[in-house]
Amino acid sequence: MRKQTAVVEILLLKMVLKKYEIHVKSIEDFNENIRIVKFRFDISSFDILPGGFVMLWKEGYLDERGILIKRAYSVASSVENKNYLEICFKIEESGRFSKIVKELKKGDKLNMQGPFNGHFILKKEHDPYFVVAGTGIAPIMSMLRSNDKLETTLIYGIKTDKDYIYKKELESFQKIKKIICVSRQDDTSYNKGRITKQILKDNLTNTYKDVFICGPNEMITQTIKNLKELGFNKIHVDKWS
Ligand SMILES: Cc1cc2nc3c(=O)[nH]c(=O)nc-3n(C[C@H](O)[C@H](O)[C@H](O)COP(=O)(O)OP(=O)(O)OC[C@H]3O[C@@H](n4cnc5c(N)ncnc54)[C@H](O)[C@@H]3O)c2cc1C
Repeated sequence: MRKQTAVVEILLLKMVLKKYEIHVKSIEDFNENIRIVKFRFDISSFDILPGGFVMLWKEGYLDERGILIKRAYSVASSVENKNYLEICFKIEESGRFSKIVKELKKGDKLNMQGPFNGHFILKKEHDPYFVVAGTGIAPIMSMLRSNDKLETTLIYGIKTDKDYIYKKELESFQKIKKIICVSRQDDTSYNKGRITKQILKDNLTNTYKDVFICGPNEMITQTIKNLKELGFNKIHVDKWS
């Protein structure tokens, strides 16, 4: 029922939300699967909240059934950024929009609709912890960049040390305690292994706080289960598929 209501809400929003044309300002190929793209756009004039997302498409790009290839992407930049809107794209093999992202170059135009301020929004009344994996860091970057006074803990799961997206910037956030968990590299300089119940227990000590989770489905399911067993009940989830 909740899911149906959410779908209806999104459909209604799609009908009333404004459409924009955005142009690529710069591209950082973090690795062969991750492209961080900045689009020229004044977000401060856009009513988006930290954790919100936009719909993107390219004019005339249809899938095999003739349907416009339109996808949701979290905004990673601060909601006050006047110069650009940043998206952290994961390129999925055989992904239809991923193919468009792979071919993007400076100056290219995409269409955008938004903002979508769904259920994964950081509000003033929240007292957050963050648990993320991979590109799940994208909406959290917007939350951190938009709230420089935040003092909290971020647990971030990656496969190898090289997969630490936004490393330099995250390390510069002095008030954010970072627990980096590396699952597929034995000689890592961070915590070896996945985000386990023990990691959550050792680092998230206040069960009254809100926990924001974003990452692959398996990680989300396991983390929700572990957090509930540890006594957390204010859990916010951004599930992408
Ligand atoms: C609220 C929200 C926020 C999001 N934020 C982000 C974000 O910040 N960054 C991000 O990268 N993504 C984000 N996503 C996910 C994004 O919307 C897309 O789902 C994702 O980029 C994949 O789209 P695609 O068109 O490339 O893949 P699709 O074409 O939709 O394919 C989906 C999957 O199926 C596989 N597939 C497709 N065709 C075939 C085939 N013929 N054979 C085998 N496998 C196939 C693809 O490999 C892929 O893994 C978000 C989603 C939501 C709902």
